[in-house]
Amino acid sequence: MSDLIKEIEKRKTFGIISHPDAGKTTLTEKLLLFGGAIQEAGAVKSNKIKKGATSDFMEIERQRGISVATSVLAFEYRDHKINILDTPGHKDFAEDTYRTLTAVDSVIVVIDVAKGVEEQTEKLVQVCRMRNIPMLVFINKLDREGKDAFDLLDEVEQKLGLTVCPLSLPIGMGSDFQGIYNIWENNIQLFLEEKKQKVGDAIKFDDINDSKIDDVIGEKAAKNLREELDLIQSVYPEFNREDYMKGDLQPVFFGSALNNFGVRELLDAFIDIAPMPQPKESDTRLVKPEESTFTGFVFKIHANMDPKHRDRLAFVKIVSGTFKRNENYLLVREGKKMKFSSPNAFFADKKEVVDESFPGDIVGLHDTGSFRIGDTLTGGEKLSFKGIPSFSPEHFRYINNNDPLKAKQLAKGIDQLMDEGVAQLFTLEMNNRKIIGTVGALQYEVIQYRLEHEYGAKCTYEPLSMHKACWVEADEKSEEFKEFARLKQRFLARDKYNQLVFLADSSFTIHMTQEKFPNVKLHFISEFR
Ligand code: GDP
Repeated sequence: MSDLIKEIEKRKTFGIISHPDAGKTTLTEKLLLFGGAIQEAGAVKSNKIKKGATSDFMEIERQRGISVATSVLAFEYRDHKINILDTPGHKDFAEDTYRTLTAVDSVIVVIDVAKGVEEQTEKLVQVCRMRNIPMLVFINKLDREGKDAFDLLDEVEQKLGLTVCPLSLPIGMGSDFQGIYNIWENNIQLFLEEKKQKVGDAIKFDDINDSKIDDVIGEKAAKNLREELDLIQSVYPEFNREDYMKGDLQPVFFGSALNNFGVRELLDAFIDIAPMPQPKESDTRLVKPEESTFTGFVFKIHANMDPKHRDRLAFVKIVSGTFKRNENYLLVREGKKMKFSSPNAFFADKKEVVDESFPGDIVGLHDTGSFRIGDTLTGGEKLSFKGIPSFSPEHFRYINNNDPLKAKQLAKGIDQLMDEGVAQLFTLEMNNRKIIGTVGALQYEVIQYRLEHEYGAKCTYEPLSMHKACWVEADEKSEEFKEFARLKQRFLARDKYNQLVFLADSSFTIHMTQEKFPNVKLHFISEFR
């Protein structure tokens, strides 16, 4: 076997998604502890904005710092190299998470046993389903009173549109929580009441009717467990790796991240079943990881912490071949050759310059403004990976220059912040006024603050009441389109890539427009072709 194939088979690159507070940070930390990548709990910083305080700039700055630090966490476990890509839970940063999901090969969805399926989980899972990303579900906080396991499985199926397949089952819950029956490994793990933090040794059984089970967890609980396992067998499909890989079946595990319970089982099953780096579609062909020539794409750009040097770090997911330091690579969009003397690899607690990286890995490339989100890098071949879509923003404001002497700085600052994907820029066709669209209100503060501190430019905003940005697909020569353009003149704009966008002030307008102009298609996502 070639060295490249060996490296590929070792790698698992995934993201953990959840609604804030479900336990993503805690689970990440426990996974790193198992991998020996960190020595103590508390080493992984939460990337949350705790108060949701929009005016607290220090908080925003801290957020940026932390999110560089925790963007990629790598560790080794059972001879595998595991890369966890961080996905911010805060809804104002959802766009960042959507983009990160283009770089993972699978995800783990964390759900709080008491709260069940929450809003942010629904949105993120929907994105994963659109992309057929394999998903594992971890139901967390079993040490607390929560919903009945079967009700929760129903909820997961209904709200998230998943087909679940439980691979573990809790025995009791909250104060009666005794442990977990691991269906995948066919054993029971006891949760020791007197030492909540401690995991009891797994007790193995070949047969669920073994009377030892009654001795261990009590007759009543054993009877209940057998009935529930029967129910699982008759109601849920058996695990099938192919279906899981296609995104058609989602295994479910139960546990408590805080108490380190059920986490090893999750990790072991993850290593057994989660996909290694996968082929990726480009505009010309399917690119396979084992191809010897390097290809990769930028899914995230981060301004560095030092605002005096306009240095940025572009996060590149390697799709194929070996990425080498100081080798010439082609930035396809610009047709420009680039060489990187200090590419970074990421570990749990540090980043380091590396000579070589492999498919599934993320390298951080220093850049002073050449890269855009979605850019493809290759060994010379002119191919582009399918772009990273933008979703319609939910907030819109006019942006005005507040210092006429700094117009250039402002333009440059806006340009670069948009390349980083902080927000979306629309330019009105009619009068060239610039509109910033964001997913959350917090972004406006981030932009204003960064424009001032990194580019020396000042801006103000003016409110604009818009509902959605719709990307327009139409035959621009048709009479129908011309009539549409004439009537909607005031609401037409261009996005950063010069695509035509219709800014709709209500869902009613969208509905009426579609009825009147059936051949002018309106899309809520920028990548529709
Ligand atoms: P995130 O927002 O999804 O990253 O959530 P965190 O990992 O920060 O967890 C949110 C809160 O839930 C923290 O106070 C954790 O200590 C707590 N938590 C996480 N896992 C568990 C668990 O298994 N049981 C209990 N009781 N609390 C937990």
